[in-house]
Amino acid sequence: MHTLQKVTHSRLPLWALPKDWPRQGSHIALADIEFKGAKIDRITPSALFENSSPRSASAPALAPSLMQTHDTVLDLKGALVLPGLMDAHTHIDKTLTLQRIGEVKPGLLNAIQAMMLDRAQWSPSDIRSRATQALQWAHAAGVCHLRTHCDWWEPTTTPLAWEVLKDLATEWHSRIQVSRSALIPLTLFKDLNTALELAKVVSQSNAPSHRACLGGFIHTSNWDPQALKHLFEAAQRFELDVDLHVDEELQPSAQGLQSIATLVTEMRFLGRVVCGHTCALAQKSDKEALGILDQVAQSGLTLVTLPVTNLWLQDATPHRTPRLRGMTLIKEARARGIPVLMGSDNVQDPFCAMGSYDPLEAMIIGTPMGQLGQAFDHWSQSICQTAWLQSKYESDSAHALQPGAQANLVIFTQANATGFPSQTLPRVIVRDALVL
Ligand SMILES: [Zn+2]
Repeated sequence: MHTLQKVTHSRLPLWALPKDWPRQGSHIALADIEFKGAKIDRITPSALFENSSPRSASAPALAPSLMQTHDTVLDLKGALVLPGLMDAHTHIDKTLTLQRIGEVKPGLLNAIQAMMLDRAQWSPSDIRSRATQALQWAHAAGVCHLRTHCDWWEPTTTPLAWEVLKDLATEWHSRIQVSRSALIPLTLFKDLNTALELAKVVSQSNAPSHRACLGGFIHTSNWDPQALKHLFEAAQRFELDVDLHVDEELQPSAQGLQSIATLVTEMRFLGRVVCGHTCALAQKSDKEALGILDQVAQSGLTLVTLPVTNLWLQDATPHRTPRLRGMTLIKEARARGIPVLMGSDNVQDPFCAMGSYDPLEAMIIGTPMGQLGQAFDHWSQSICQTAWLQSKYESDSAHALQPGAQANLVIFTQANATGFPSQTLPRVIVRDALVL
């Protein structure tokens, strides 16, 4: 590891640059990033000279030796650079269990059943070793922020994994900021007193270094508008953010997303509200779906799309090739200014056999799945924009690639902006201005 003072000729994504950032012909001008201690001090357009055009697809990769020098100034020669990455939606309590479980019948509800059986053998050391592996993989991929959901089935007993993940969040704080969301079946919020008790317990384990949110599983199989209202009332009472699994299905009648948008507006809910999945939105008529997105935009919700798990679980029938993708309407959401994040979701558990806690893996699958143009300049913010997940109870909502932010960068030594997210390995990870 060595400390950097400056990187020159970096190609930053358009979303992270000021509106008046200069162009160089048809290209976006490259950037020099100066560090002061562990922070970004200045970002300025690179001086023009022959090396200052962006990497072309045919350009030779940055020599590994260049990255291994101990120079305090690195010339990146047009390499793509993102801030430290974020994985907005994972399940590191359940992860890496599929190998011992074996074959699982297709579909979400079968996966839930298989997971319930496996839970009988969970112990603190089992959870700790699987979750630690997940964090190690995420860290190696360049992740600085990770949100994990944690299964919570009993109204009165805190799950083992909730405590283990809290300890891990504290231990990993200098490497990855881990936040937790309690994933509670909606039925447990039926009774308001139970809802308040659940929110109280979650709020007691909330801390700036390891935020805890109230979450739930909202699906047509357990739909209960009163319980949903209790969930939000309880979260509001204890000043909690909310992060939910919503309409993770292809049933066009699913009402979760619309009901949440209405509730949040009517209650003037103050915390951050994040809705993961919302697959059913893509099954509604355009008129209905776009009307719901208008409401979502007004109510300030963040959406999270989980391409790998949606492809794995939705439209799943044995011996039949799936026809439907399960991706929510992310282009229409962004067109309305709705924050859209992309996450790994389940990794090597009954819900999804594959995965590696590399947010770029979700992007590699999500980009063709959603036919997303400008993957680097526009969509890469879906794996970087920590402000979109950040609590509204916190004040700092600046994005991660500007003066004053922590000097955390991911440098892609091979990729070019047109072909991104292909060729995003190898990477050079810079943390607190140190080359790892
Ligand atoms: Zn999930």
